[in-house]
Amino acid sequence: MTEGTLWIPAVIYEQLMFYTINVKEEVGGLGIVSIAENGNATIEELFLLEQDVEPSECTLSPIGIAKLFTELKNTGQEEKIGEINLWWHSHAKMKAFFSGTDNKTMEEWTGDHLFAIVINHSQDMVAKIMTRNPMYIVSDIDVIVDWCDVPEAKAWTEEIKEKVKKKVFAPAAKKPEEKEQKTFYPVPQNWEMYDDDEDELWKKYCHGSIHDLTEEEFEKLEEMEAAEIAGFHLIPLEDIEEWEKEAIRYHF
Ligand SMILES: [Zn+2]
Repeated sequence: MTEGTLWIPAVIYEQLMFYTINVKEEVGGLGIVSIAENGNATIEELFLLEQDVEPSECTLSPIGIAKLFTELKNTGQEEKIGEINLWWHSHAKMKAFFSGTDNKTMEEWTGDHLFAIVINHSQDMVAKIMTRNPMYIVSDIDVIVDWCDVPEAKAWTEEIKEKVKKKVFAPAAKKPEEKEQKTFYPVPQNWEMYDDDEDELWKKYCHGSIHDLTEEEFEKLEEMEAAEIAGFHLIPLEDIEEWEKEAIRYHF
């Protein structure tokens, strides 16, 4: 559990930053982090605690915690009490780092593990994980906002596909100056394009996202081909077994 990354879904990051930016002093709360089998952890929920804020100190108030537990009980979410394993707090305008007081707060946490995040008004963010199993260890952990975890993800993905094209080109079968003889089947230049089917290629060709080779591109391509051929070791015919010849004849 000390390995991996702490992921923050975009909507949770918004909530975290909203609490942080809108309180001039240091503010903090708890939360629930789920842990995947690969060791990656994701913040599922944040709780803002009732608290008296101070400009430069944010510790966990036992009264605030007790009130949160009561609130969870009263709203039928009692099971969440045992799942709380995140402590987050802001350093307001100060640097985001774990102070001596912060380390002490982590040490005093009674659960077997705790994720902790410090953020500030400049959106700096650091995270640690404390675990007691098999012994008391505190380690730094990467913390990443999952910007792709948004309700609009599907629509925006479609929009990107629609509007953002990778620049690829397809050579005409002939040199550009012999254009009138060219075949209109576009030959992909980009290796990835070989996976595309002919209709897709044709559509791209017609919509201008791939184009005929320019003189310069054509020369470059010839150079590349020459280099490729030079790198090939041709097998003398007498070294080829009869069954291999058979296979070659079958293929071509
Ligand atoms: Zn702190």
